[in-house]
Amino acid sequence: MTALVIGGGIGGPVAAVALRRAGIEATVFEAHARPAGGAGGGLSIAPNGMRALGVVGLEEAVRAVTTPITSMRMRSWTGKVLAEFGTEPPMSMVWRDDLQRVLSEEAAGQGVRVVPGKRLTHVTEAPDHVVAHFADGTSATGGLLVGADGIRSTVRRLIDPGAPGPRYAGLLGFGARVADTGLPSTGGVMHMVFGKRAFFGYQVLDDGSGGWFANLPSRTPLSTTEARKTPVEEWVATMRAAFADDRVPAVALIDRTDPADVLVTGALEDVPSVPTWSRGRMVLVGDAAHATSPSSGQGASLAVESAVELARCLRDLPHDRAFAAYEHLRRDRVERIIAMAARTNRDKAAGPVGRVLRDLLMPWAVKFAKPERYTWQFDHRIDWDEPSAVARP
Ligand SMILES: Cc1cc2nc3c(=O)[nH]c(=O)nc-3n(C[C@H](O)[C@H](O)[C@H](O)COP(=O)(O)OP(=O)(O)OC[C@H]3O[C@@H](n4cnc5c(N)ncnc54)[C@H](O)[C@@H]3O)c2cc1C
Repeated sequence: MTALVIGGGIGGPVAAVALRRAGIEATVFEAHARPAGGAGGGLSIAPNGMRALGVVGLEEAVRAVTTPITSMRMRSWTGKVLAEFGTEPPMSMVWRDDLQRVLSEEAAGQGVRVVPGKRLTHVTEAPDHVVAHFADGTSATGGLLVGADGIRSTVRRLIDPGAPGPRYAGLLGFGARVADTGLPSTGGVMHMVFGKRAFFGYQVLDDGSGGWFANLPSRTPLSTTEARKTPVEEWVATMRAAFADDRVPAVALIDRTDPADVLVTGALEDVPSVPTWSRGRMVLVGDAAHATSPSSGQGASLAVESAVELARCLRDLPHDRAFAAYEHLRRDRVERIIAMAARTNRDKAAGPVGRVLRDLLMPWAVKFAKPERYTWQFDHRIDWDEPSAVARP
């Protein structure tokens, strides 16, 4: 059996590595010369994602380019600590460029071919194979086609032309990596600030470098391309004004950032539920199947988990039953996390009254919440050696 994996972001290379372990030859086809999913910036890998990488031998290489996040400290605009929680083992922070480089190198080291410059446009389906057609006029044939092509997935639409597209979360995203923050290390703590007008996250590493991200409420959804039409200096001025009253080092960090390094990521989006994850010989993984907004900190981890679970199911079952088993194992979990992130987005975009209530209630909500209310996301484990029993007749 061979598989064509469409998309060389995060889920694609992991799926290809996992499929090889399951005895299926896989080639990755990436539209860009370099993968483009959410380009640049930093992201977190949750313990569940790291564990899933470990299942297919990728944990060590990825861990080498990460920094631990010992806890997340939620603060209000006054600087008051609203809540703090960590995970065991800790979350990891990674720059997307580093993560994608490592995944590509590791995939290549494990015999997976990643072919750049191949944008899937359409497919031709036959009972025993599928042909992927690319924008450059070339094509490739395989027994299966795995759509790991992100939140604006082409494969999702090929499986179901009526499939939903991204939903806007009411926030615009920005971020930057700062070589010299001029601030003391946050000692592994990621600060998350529910500011007066916008949301700000930052972490300073022991060497004084660091990173930040900002989410600005906006009624108007702007795609990354549209948001980038506004000169970055204007966005910097907007952010400085948004955080001017907040008693946290948001403005200081923005001022230490070369505007050329500010990453404008545009609208925060999710896809709450994709009705059809597979059809015929095609199946979705990662954001193509279950895009959560960045507020979950779980998008990359869920993409990795799904890639590994799909391969495990295909190892044990014919493809149609494997696809059903895979969806059965994944759907509830991912949709629950997407819904949780959507609630966080509402907190981030709260108006003046909502903000006061949020700041009053959050410490109590966190203090009295049973840990199981959130630890379930991080405790998830995939047992590779366990047969995919759920789809047995
Ligand atoms: C600003 C921002 C911050 C985020 N922060 C976090 C975080 O802290 N933690 C976290 O876990 N997640 C985070 N996420 C989400 C995370 O990036 C995604 O969930 C994750 O990248 C999904 O991986 P994927 O492989 O499914 O898709 P992607 O990483 O988007 O990769 C899809 C790939 O498919 C390629 N492609 C698209 N169309 C085609 C086509 N037709 N043919 C061939 N190739 C194609 C794209 O070029 C891309 O390389 C963030 C996302 C954004 C935008």
